[in-house]
Amino acid sequence: MHRLKQDFINKPSLLELDFESLPIPDHRQRYRRQQLAGWLYVHGANSFEEMSNLPQSWRQRLAERYIISPFLRFERFVSQDKSVRYLFSLHDGQQTEAVYIPYRNRKTVCISSMVGCPAGCAFCATGALGFGRNLSRAEILAQIPTVARAEGIAPKEIRNVVLMGMGEALLNYEQALSAIRTMIDPRGLDMSPRRITLSTVGLPEKIKCLASEGLPLVLAVSLHAPNEETRRKIIPTAHAHSIGDIMAALRNWQEASGRRITIEYTMLSGVNDATWQAEMLVQRLRDLRVHINLIPFNNWTGAGFSSSGKEQIKSFEQVLLRAGLSVSIRFSRGRDAGAACGQLALTQSEQSPAANRHIKYGLRNVKD
Ligand code: SF4
Repeated sequence: MHRLKQDFINKPSLLELDFESLPIPDHRQRYRRQQLAGWLYVHGANSFEEMSNLPQSWRQRLAERYIISPFLRFERFVSQDKSVRYLFSLHDGQQTEAVYIPYRNRKTVCISSMVGCPAGCAFCATGALGFGRNLSRAEILAQIPTVARAEGIAPKEIRNVVLMGMGEALLNYEQALSAIRTMIDPRGLDMSPRRITLSTVGLPEKIKCLASEGLPLVLAVSLHAPNEETRRKIIPTAHAHSIGDIMAALRNWQEASGRRITIEYTMLSGVNDATWQAEMLVQRLRDLRVHINLIPFNNWTGAGFSSSGKEQIKSFEQVLLRAGLSVSIRFSRGRDAGAACGQLALTQSEQSPAANRHIKYGLRNVKD
């Protein structure tokens, strides 16, 4: 095996370490920790050579003990609407994905917390992949500076992060929370927690844990049906967690955080789009402050569902609006690059509809 590949397997990424754990040359040089963090998070450096204000001898010592990026390489799939799907190759041969979504001055990255997903939602291409493994803190965090650098912008220009890619972040709680803490650390990515959205399929105990962290994140809950029977058909975890329990956890979250909650509702024709279901949804949400995203279903090969039509979505929306709820219909971006909501499925270049617009990047000079 090539030496650099061996290095990659044996050495930890510096991004695995929180600020206080970053190495310094000796205890009198604590300011070096700030310099090193600056290279990692302000500049998004992916080589020790470019850390020009650090002494050469120390850079060498760092390179002997650590790597920077936890990714071997990545591929980029550009959609016609300018959103970009990133496919990252990990050290153990697994892969995961992120999506860059530029919109006017707002730059958003949708990141993953897992390889695949154990939740297995019936309408989701990631769920159909099954569960690969949890991502480490570094693998979650590194998606942001890697995307920024590839897009030619500074990591700090990315002001919105959504943990809505592959995986159920609350089932990878420690690593996801550790990554989020560095996202909001002024010595890290220095992001506002109010611009970080954590999406969950609805795990009441984990939502209660999150409420006790005191982080004013945006919580997005994939409800997708107001009645147990339908929800159980499309979301396997609904067998273990009733909608009533989820609502109780959301009330607890709202009391603790004071934050409005986002309700995600994928519109599936003939499954969850009836008027009576809209009315029931109003009842479910009556004592919460929420914004509801109605998401037309994004098709993928073998899905077995189709999206509700425009008229049906509009009349569903009307029921919610008449009840005074805040609603928007969210058309996903990046469909032609397999990057839209529910489409992330590790499709390779030859399978992707955006095959002719994809480019491979080596992050490390690695030969297999
Ligand atoms: S919708 Fe989210 S929670 Fe459900 S399978 Fe897909 S990635 Fe997992």
